[in-house]
Amino acid sequence: MSAKLSIGIAGAGVGGLASGILLARAGHRVTVFDQFEAAGPVGSGLMLQETGLTILGALGLRAGAEALGSPITRLWGVSSETGRAVLDVRYGALRKSLIGIGIQRAALFDLLFEAAKAAGVQVVLGTRIVSADSEAGVFRDTEGSALGPYDLLIDCMGVRSPLASKPSKELPYGALWATLPWPESSVFDDAALEQRYEAARKMAGVMPSGRAAPGAPVSLTYFWSIRGDAYEAFRTAPLADWKREASALWPETAVLLDQITEHDQLTFARYRHRTHWPATEGRLIRLGDSWHATSPQLGQGANMALLDAFALARAVEAGGEIAADYTRMRALHVRLFQGMSHMFTPVYQSDSAVLPWLRDWLAAPVSKIWPALPLLAALVSGGIGAPLAKLGLRAER
Ligand SMILES: Cc1cc2nc3c(=O)[nH]c(=O)nc-3n(C[C@H](O)[C@H](O)[C@H](O)COP(=O)(O)OP(=O)(O)OC[C@H]3O[C@@H](n4cnc5c(N)ncnc54)[C@H](O)[C@@H]3O)c2cc1C
Repeated sequence: MSAKLSIGIAGAGVGGLASGILLARAGHRVTVFDQFEAAGPVGSGLMLQETGLTILGALGLRAGAEALGSPITRLWGVSSETGRAVLDVRYGALRKSLIGIGIQRAALFDLLFEAAKAAGVQVVLGTRIVSADSEAGVFRDTEGSALGPYDLLIDCMGVRSPLASKPSKELPYGALWATLPWPESSVFDDAALEQRYEAARKMAGVMPSGRAAPGAPVSLTYFWSIRGDAYEAFRTAPLADWKREASALWPETAVLLDQITEHDQLTFARYRHRTHWPATEGRLIRLGDSWHATSPQLGQGANMALLDAFALARAVEAGGEIAADYTRMRALHVRLFQGMSHMFTPVYQSDSAVLPWLRDWLAAPVSKIWPALPLLAALVSGGIGAPLAKLGLRAER
């Protein structure tokens, strides 16, 4: 049994709240700081995989996430040029009961935030952390005030964390996204994340993303891949220009595009890849995107933050070498998925002519043959590298 610690967490996102809940429930004194004045997430709908869902199960929040989210059984991508399916991953190919859950970020945030408050986590908003002293165990805010001292400092400030030393380079492509009400008459599969591609230069996606709250309308999240350096041109051109291009790629989305009447309804997300080694420095622990950020092509980031949170709570509970135990439990999975994300992102978002050609004419046919089917399901559900077993957990489904 470990001693009771005083713990400061910077960032009230997925990883910050999940680790706060676990550590506070174990009896530690936990304070979470966030830059926002009011609690609430900014960001698109996201997919919870079996890894993240199992951690939510351990937190007692899985049923809540499943009740609000949309079950997803298939990832299905079609080339608009050839009409061929070039991505067809069925979760059931690995295990019949395996699914993902598409969920609005606000719904996931509310579940975690309420549980954090109930566990006794002190949440301090309107505090922007700019640095940390890992020897003294303090964060510093924009006023230069020292917050702490804490026995443990956890950096959960995401991809732009000021405590992750190397600024990461932005990827050439990001995405515009909007969460929209599910249209009454639509051809979209309510159990599939669907995508359409033109080479790797154009991509649109539709993901069922459940309800923001019980009784709220069912939604979907629409994505449009766009080069970072084309964003300004998108903003200044008439919206109709973009809509023409988007409906030419995927005519069925016209019913969604009709709901978008202003540029501001589409939020631009920039993507970065960065893995910060070592994950820990003195009393400072990096968790989630501040440790390992990627493009969301494989839909793993929030799930990995949940796995990190559970690993850290386990390491603290064991009362040994927290940093070493935490890193040991997570390092292989982080390395594998960071590597695969590097590999797969340009296949779907880049100016390459070769990669999408290989994707459509080589990888797509091979991926329809056993053992590729269960392997792909294991990849998207986050199970490669046995991350749950390393935490002493088993998939619930
Ligand atoms: C468009 C898009 C789609 C995605 N889709 C998926 C998906 O389908 N599945 C999936 O698993 N992941 C997805 N992700 C990735 C996922 O959102 C992240 O990996 C995940 O949110 C990381 O969690 P985190 O707790 O590390 O950081 P975050 O959730 O980013 O939280 C960071 C928190 O830190 C706070 N903060 C930041 N800087 C400071 C500061 N200086 N001082 C104080 N507070 C600060 C922020 O306000 C925020 O609350 C997607 C990401 C994007 C952009």
